[in-house]
Amino acid sequence: MKLLLHVCCAPCTIFPLSVLRKEGIAVQGYFNNPNIHPYQEFKKRLTGVDTLAGLMDFQVETVREYGLKEYLRQVVQHEDERCGLCYEMRLRATALKAKQAGVDAFSTTLLYSRYQKHELIRRTGERLAEQYAIPFYYQDFRIGWQEGIDMSRQMELYRQPYCGCIYSEQERYDKSLRAP
Ligand code: SF4
Repeated sequence: MKLLLHVCCAPCTIFPLSVLRKEGIAVQGYFNNPNIHPYQEFKKRLTGVDTLAGLMDFQVETVREYGLKEYLRQVVQHEDERCGLCYEMRLRATALKAKQAGVDAFSTTLLYSRYQKHELIRRTGERLAEQYAIPFYYQDFRIGWQEGIDMSRQMELYRQPYCGCIYSEQERYDKSLRAP
């Protein structure tokens, strides 16, 4: 089986990639993340993925254009639903790329993170799978959360302090947004 794996960042890729390879799946990566801001942060995560590709002998296509405008055009005035829109834009691009590449299925490293809306990612992937007639490969990679963290530290990969968008950066650092 050949699978196109959407890659959100290097640390979140290690465990899913290891598991999929153990299952005998040929995995190609696809880094396409217009949700990572600001520009310097985007570059750090991109560099991390380049490093991981070398360390794990992983073939990954990287969309290297900074996608701030593309992201904002879809999210502004829908900020409360932004994560669903964000999953949709990244998984739609991956499903389309998977169709073009002629692989058997697509999936995403977002299924590894304990901080993401796991069921929403699953539903979004399955909906796009129907729309584009290509299977969405679901697995709950969160079981390897600590293992992935440990391996990313051993590899000395960049580990980001917030999810990605400028809204999540504010939520991470703006104390006024925290509950009293
Ligand atoms: S918090 Fe994360 S998943 Fe939600 S919109 Fe921002 S970058 Fe996307």
